Amino acid sequence: MTSTTRDQPSTPAGRLKPWVWPLHWQILLGLALGAGLGLWLGQIAIANISQGVAADQRGAAGAAIVQNSLAFQLCDLAGDLFLAGLKLIIVPLVFSSIVLAIANIARTGGFGRLGLKTLAYYLTTSLLAVLVGLALVNAFAPGSSTTDTGEITGILVGQNLDAFASEAAEVESKVGGKTGTDFLNVFRTMVPENFFAAAANNGQLLGLITVAMFVGFFLSRLPEDPGHDVQGTMHRFFDGVYRLTLGITDVVLKLAPLGVLFLLAATVALQWAKLRPDGRFDELIAGVTKFAVVAVAALGIHFLITMPLILMLVARVNPLRHYRAMAPALMTAFSTASSSATLPLTLDCVETRAGVSNKVSSFTLPLGATVNMDGTALYECVAAMFICQAFGLELSFAQQFMIVVVALLTSVGVAGVPSASLVAIAVILQAVEQQLPAGSLPGGASLLTGMALLFVFDRPLDMCRTAVNVFGDSVGAVTVARSEGETPLQTR
Ligand code: ASP
Repeated sequence: MTSTTRDQPSTPAGRLKPWVWPLHWQILLGLALGAGLGLWLGQIAIANISQGVAADQRGAAGAAIVQNSLAFQLCDLAGDLFLAGLKLIIVPLVFSSIVLAIANIARTGGFGRLGLKTLAYYLTTSLLAVLVGLALVNAFAPGSSTTDTGEITGILVGQNLDAFASEAAEVESKVGGKTGTDFLNVFRTMVPENFFAAAANNGQLLGLITVAMFVGFFLSRLPEDPGHDVQGTMHRFFDGVYRLTLGITDVVLKLAPLGVLFLLAATVALQWAKLRPDGRFDELIAGVTKFAVVAVAALGIHFLITMPLILMLVARVNPLRHYRAMAPALMTAFSTASSSATLPLTLDCVETRAGVSNKVSSFTLPLGATVNMDGTALYECVAAMFICQAFGLELSFAQQFMIVVVALLTSVGVAGVPSASLVAIAVILQAVEQQLPAGSLPGGASLLTGMALLFVFDRPLDMCRTAVNVFGDSVGAVTVARSEGETPLQTR
């Protein structure tokens, strides 16, 4: 890949010209400007809420004003175009790169070894992440200390949440009585009935990966007939598709600073207008702030301690250089809240900036973007425990163990799109509820009603966990590459 190699250190004369800055600085500037613009738009909307609106309706009124403003719609449009550009690349890029990687591995051997190492890494790191989350949520009990059980259904859940009504309805429609084992259905998508249907549905990346693996494997087994070099022709075809897609990736990457600016502006404007502290809404925010802090702290431990330790001790690469190499992908993950949409950039950064071979990155990263979600697994566990605490439930060791297992299982099944874990959390809560003796919950309430608490900070927390998900995948690629005898850039 060629795109991010243009990151040259800026000269003193170039310091005032952001367009010649290294890509990660440009994206960081985009993030900062986007946040500033979003706050400004949100603040304007808040100022325009008419005086007569009741305190608990002001969030919804502010959100409606933001959504109807032309500035928001323009930011939203530009952000959506950037996202669409990223998604456009996913299918041809993932398919062609996996075909080439597997054809390569099939010729040189070692597929089983690579697969086992990758899965072992995914399982170990996701488990570590969930355990960190579980430890923190038990130690700080953000649910029990801030919320009075008697009040939860009345103040926190029943009122003040109109601003988040659309999110609530969406989760409700997706959950529809699913249980933990329903998530096993995700494994059905591993073998798609129809390749084109899987390709047309971004959520079915897993099926696409399987088909690409088969194609790559049998491509390397096609008979070599000098007169009709089918194998060579097909190989050149996929190589052509791959290079062509890289060209488009390069264009999208160049636009990434602007893309994240508009995406973030639209997100921040809307969230700011919804969350603006007002009347009793203050209580709600106070109730969930401790939860958000605990979730961010747990994600931070995984991102800043666990992962660097793996980089240093197992992969033996310099973590600081790896953070730097992954910065464009991390910032894009942060602003899009979608690890699938970030995949083209993750592939680019891991190959070009971290120096991992195409063979390893093409195999580990698309798989990682769908099945390896450390941040999501951790968040699911913290969020489910928080809601149980808020309802005054004391969970036994066995119940907590079940939450860990279901969080791990569902994090594999969760698609790499914004807010995907909310559905998984609903599934975990239903599984917990089934274990509870009748009458454990106040006034016959359902644990699911507590999910309303999560909507308040879902977007910012989603941005953080997505960045952790993407970082976990990249560390996996480097670790596997090192174990295969490669020397990624950082060690040279
Ligand atoms: N947004 C996350 C991702 O794409 C999934 C989630 O946790 O909601 O990685």
